[in-house]
Amino acid sequence: MSKSEKSRETEHSESRKLPIYQHKDKLVQAVKENTFLIVTGETGSGKTTQLPQYLFKAGLCRDGRIGVTQPRRVAAITVAQRVSHEMGVRLGEEVGYQVRFDDCSTKDTMIKYMTDGCLLREILADPSLSQYSIVVLDEAHERSLNTDVLLGLLKKTLSKRSRGRKPPFKVVVMSATLETEKLSSFYENCPVFTIPGRTYPVKEKFCNLIGPKDKDSSVYVKEVVKVTLDVHTNEAAGDILVFLTGQSEIEKACDLLFDKAEILDYRYDVHDRTVEGLLILPLYGSMPTDQQRQIFQPAPKGVRKCVVATNIAATSLTIDGIRYIVDSGFVKQLNHNSNVGLDILEVVPISKSEAQQRAGRAGRTSAGKCFRIYSKDFWDTCMPEYTIPEIQRTSLTSVILTLKCLGIHDVIRFPYLDCPEERFILTALKQLYQYDAIDRRGDVTRLGRLMVEFPLPPNLTRALLKAAALGCEDVMLPVAAMLSVENIFIRPGKPEGQKEAEIRHKEIAACAGSSNDFLLLLCVFEKCRSSDNPSAWCKEHWIHWRAVKSAFSVETQLREILLRLKQNDFPHETFEGSRSELLRQCLCLGYFTNVARRSIGKSFCTMDGHGSTVLIHPSSCLFGQELHLDWIIFHDVLVTSRVYVRTVCPIRYEWVQDLLPKLHEIDVYELSSVAREEVTDEEMAQWEKKEAAKRQAATEDAAK
Ligand code: ADP
Ligand code: MG
Repeated sequence: MSKSEKSRETEHSESRKLPIYQHKDKLVQAVKENTFLIVTGETGSGKTTQLPQYLFKAGLCRDGRIGVTQPRRVAAITVAQRVSHEMGVRLGEEVGYQVRFDDCSTKDTMIKYMTDGCLLREILADPSLSQYSIVVLDEAHERSLNTDVLLGLLKKTLSKRSRGRKPPFKVVVMSATLETEKLSSFYENCPVFTIPGRTYPVKEKFCNLIGPKDKDSSVYVKEVVKVTLDVHTNEAAGDILVFLTGQSEIEKACDLLFDKAEILDYRYDVHDRTVEGLLILPLYGSMPTDQQRQIFQPAPKGVRKCVVATNIAATSLTIDGIRYIVDSGFVKQLNHNSNVGLDILEVVPISKSEAQQRAGRAGRTSAGKCFRIYSKDFWDTCMPEYTIPEIQRTSLTSVILTLKCLGIHDVIRFPYLDCPEERFILTALKQLYQYDAIDRRGDVTRLGRLMVEFPLPPNLTRALLKAAALGCEDVMLPVAAMLSVENIFIRPGKPEGQKEAEIRHKEIAACAGSSNDFLLLLCVFEKCRSSDNPSAWCKEHWIHWRAVKSAFSVETQLREILLRLKQNDFPHETFEGSRSELLRQCLCLGYFTNVARRSIGKSFCTMDGHGSTVLIHPSSCLFGQELHLDWIIFHDVLVTSRVYVRTVCPIRYEWVQDLLPKLHEIDVYELSSVAREEVTDEEMAQWEKKEAAKRQAATEDAAK
């Protein structure tokens, strides 16, 4: 037996120790007997890695592959790696994965792990999912927007298919715990298969370092580091899992831990002698996969592993050997902010159920401890009982366009597991109308059909399509790619590094005329592409070379989509003017919903009807030049005690003059009739008349 076979053999026996193993035959039987099946069990019981293998080995995918969806891309990739390893096959062959901008599968792939967003795109191209015999919707308890939509779509359209096909198409929904009754009644009262778990007690402790008033990230990062070091010095051997909010907080915490742990090492008297050092490993979504693999490897003897992670380690990934949890109590969450009228990535307190899930990670293989940096008061007053499903708190624009393209006209009465508020659906419809993706009847336009092809937010897609129509996609493709990858600019945690990085970033900005953050992204992209040694250039300028490299690949893929679309009839326009002007005018087509005009001092006022006051974020190359600016557009918003806009571009009023009225033209409540039913031509004509009269009145009002 070769070395690798041997290691596979031992790992294979590892997988036999998982709680799911004893239920293997019954599980396979249950899937055979049912069209819909819910499978539930503690995190780490083996659902994600084992069940697809069981089904495969039982020959259940002779007529089509098994697709397993994950809300997070990292989970899809690492799990596929693990399963291909367990099965002893090459990743990308029998077992593969597909995530946005990264397809590691072939037509022969039998077990395909993928993000829920990817499966949604596949349904667009092939509504009956003819290549699949089983779809497993994993991590349903996370209630991600795309998984929720898939739950409804599979219920609505695929129950038809399963009746017409032999052997029928099957859906398995897997969930950590939570809401199994609800899921079952959603799917024709289908059976629920519960895998009994083994867990050990976890002692929970409030450290009282964060109270109801502390929400600033610099505070909780520091406290998390403090508690982690306390655990390291005072607790017996066992690995630590720290829950933080995002990449930058994690990197900051790792820097701080690294500094302090080094000092600790020289003071042997203060800490447990069995632990000589602390192996600090970050874990977040956009990390390179080779680094992620390290997370699962046991630490060298006598060294304590400390993984500093986002919520990804709460349910999607299980790391063996964790005995201690340090919980910051916060999570980064995309929420629709109705004051600003935009989706904003916010740091918010986690829910109590989430906190329990985090604590549970310490009790998988032996008794553990969970250190909560916050107080009981914080728990009582700031933390909600449950996390609200994403579908009820974020923008639905892309999802509604997808549904419309699938021919689902009535997006209000779609079978949602939990209905989003009607006004959110109406806002999405309004936005699609503003982008010309749907018409006044709510039917998808030619532009809408083009837009849905791109795995990008609608505003960026709209700008890209405009540039493509002008034959100038070379300007916009890199910008779209750079905005689709993780942060490009390195902003170090330590003050010395910070200054140096700032100077370097200013230098590049100066090359781009310091005039526009989008153009700056384009410049970095082009500099790297034309450079003989781009990684050295990036290092010198404090740019994440890895991020730029993935932007190269994203750009290629976006270009391929565009080329394919251009083969059919594609809009064509002409433009005369400079490159910077061209870029900015195209951006206006997509970002006219994010226009602001300078008001008092350095502040700007948004023009979308909310009239919010915003400031330019210090990371923008336009920071400090506010007094010379008048109109701007922006890519995103950061809310702290103030509202900041990031990735900013100055524009001229003439470029948005004709677009801005669209923001106010249509009353959302009028669109509700469009959402509900087919409208006759006559009704349509009447409605147009009414609208025209309203506009007339508004213009007259304005003239007065
Ligand atoms: P569930 O889906 O029920 O939460 P999983 O199938 O994800 O459970 O995990 C089962 C086991 O497989 C866990 O003990 C976990 O540590 C192990 N495992 C999963 N992925 C990897 C990996 N990439 N490397 C090493 N072990 C892994
Ligand atoms: Mg799982």
